[in-house]
Amino acid sequence: SLAGKTALVTGGTSGIGLAIARALAAEGADVVINGLGDPQENAQIADDIAQNCKVKSYTSPADMCDPDAIARMMAEAKERLGTIDILVNNAGIQHVSAVEEFPIEKWNQIIAINLSSAFHTIRLAVPGMKQKGWGRIINTASAHSLVASPYKAAYVAAKHGLAGLTKTVALETAQAGVTVNCISPGYVWTPLVENQIPDTMKARGLTKEQVIEDVLLKAQPTKQFVTVDQIGAMAVFLCSDAASQITGANLSVDGGWTAQ
Ligand code: NAD
Repeated sequence: SLAGKTALVTGGTSGIGLAIARALAAEGADVVINGLGDPQENAQIADDIAQNCKVKSYTSPADMCDPDAIARMMAEAKERLGTIDILVNNAGIQHVSAVEEFPIEKWNQIIAINLSSAFHTIRLAVPGMKQKGWGRIINTASAHSLVASPYKAAYVAAKHGLAGLTKTVALETAQAGVTVNCISPGYVWTPLVENQIPDTMKARGLTKEQVIEDVLLKAQPTKQFVTVDQIGAMAVFLCSDAASQITGANLSVDGGWTAQ
């Protein structure tokens, strides 16, 4: 059980992050849910989690591009729910473009959200974890932290960087009761993925089945999507005592993608 623990999930208002937040709360953790989107809808998400799981929960709209906003979010979390025991760096965005045309602004934004935000939350969370002698840092990386695809220069660079940050902090905290790992999903069935299907059908003149099998799941040998709940379950496992010797690892949940 994670009762009495405090978790903070960046990018927790949608998709994978929301599933992780729900899974941690279901185990009894109080949870700060960071993310963009409609503030009222987000408040409702936190209220539902608080009510269903009998935990404390609230949302933070801090922009993961902004180190000062991140610092304020971390300070507020400590004030309202106590030391952050479980930190989940999950916020992430994508942009697809050839490297010579890649917008500089998009590059900077992706590095800030997908990589640098994790540095800022980690540097602010580690002292409390060390002091308590217990902590869990879980970074949502990607199959793209291990292999590349064309036209995703910033995303692949940021995710490889996140995997490197994970290993470094794991070494620095190894004797403090803190573990630091990444979960690296392949294609996960989220609203984001589902919403791309109609456009791709139109653009390429394919059926829904063809888009799923030949475009989305081309690289995924199982030919099935990962579910958000499978990622949530992995996060819960990483918080358990059974996982206390797993640190600095990059755990693939990708239907065999990176075995190729
Ligand atoms: P999503 O778009 O459903 O969720 C992204 C979350 O990040 C949202 O809560 C959004 O509000 C938040 N976010 C975006 N920009 C932000 C900012 N500037 N500040 C604060 N929050 C911000 O996407 P998802 O599919 O759930 O992806 C979550 C993570 O999983 C990302 O890091 C993504 O790279 C990674 N991932 C996703 C897949 C997939 O197939 N869906 C595969 C591998 C890795």
